[in-house]
Amino acid sequence: MPRQRVSNEDDIKAYRLLAKKLGLKMTPQRLQIFDALMSMKGHPSAEDVFEAVRPKVPSMSLDTVYRTLALLEHHGAISRVQHADDKARYDSETRRHCHLVCTRCRAIEDFYWPEIEELQAPDETAQWGKIERRYLELRGICRDCLAKDARQ
Ligand SMILES: [Zn+2]
Ligand SMILES: [Zn+2]
Repeated sequence: MPRQRVSNEDDIKAYRLLAKKLGLKMTPQRLQIFDALMSMKGHPSAEDVFEAVRPKVPSMSLDTVYRTLALLEHHGAISRVQHADDKARYDSETRRHCHLVCTRCRAIEDFYWPEIEELQAPDETAQWGKIERRYLELRGICRDCLAKDARQ
C-alpha cells in the first residue's frame, strides 16, 4: 500500500522555512500557492493549483501560478513530473520516490522503493553512459477506477 502523504501545519511551516532559506520573497500570493501545493496530494497541475487558490485570492492569475511554480522548480524545492502524453504536474515531495500512474484518471501516487538503488542494472546501461538517477514509473488502473468498473 503506498504511503499517502498527509499535509499538516508542520509541512507548511517547513515549506515557509525552505522558501526563506532559498531567499524567495514570501509575498501573500506565493504563500497561498505554496500552501495549496502542500495540501494537495496527487501531483496537481498548475491549473489545479490555480483553481484551489482562486477562491481565497480572487486577484490571482494563472500566470502568477505558472511563474511561482517555475521559480520553485528552478530552486529545486519542487519537481516537475512530465509525461509525454500529459501536461506538467508538480511534486512537492523532495525525497527520492517513484510513481504509480493511473492511465485512466491520470492520478499520480508516490511510492518508495529504496531497493532499486542497489539493484544490479543490466550491462547495456553501463555501456550507454553514466546513470545519475533511478526512477521507476508503474502504470496501470488505480483502485478508485477499478472500484468504478466493479460497480458498473
Ligand atoms: Zn484512476
Ligand atoms: Zn511524486
